Amino acid sequence: MTKNNQEPMMANSKQWENICERCGRCCFEKYEYRGKIFYSDTPCEYLDLETKLCRIYPQRFELNPECVRLSPDLVQSGVLPDDCPYVKKIK
Ligand code: SF4
Repeated sequence: MTKNNQEPMMANSKQWENICERCGRCCFEKYEYRGKIFYSDTPCEYLDLETKLCRIYPQRFELNPECVRLSPDLVQSGVLPDDCPYVKKIK
């Protein structure tokens, strides 16, 4: 999918957010090694490990400066798991 095709999808943020299956995997700390992203076993302090949901979702950017808004560019950067629905949709 080209970047131009992604913009209409982003314009409807509800539609964009509904792509997420709420598995919570992207809310674990990651590190990069030789250009590849690896996931650690350390969750974000705000991730509810039972529900797999963020406990501060509406204020996440204010309360956690390390939280990053998910965008098509970020998805293409390879930071999400390969089987994440965003990755499948954008690849
Ligand atoms: S890995 Fe993908 S499906 Fe799972 S919580 Fe993150 S964005 Fe949503």
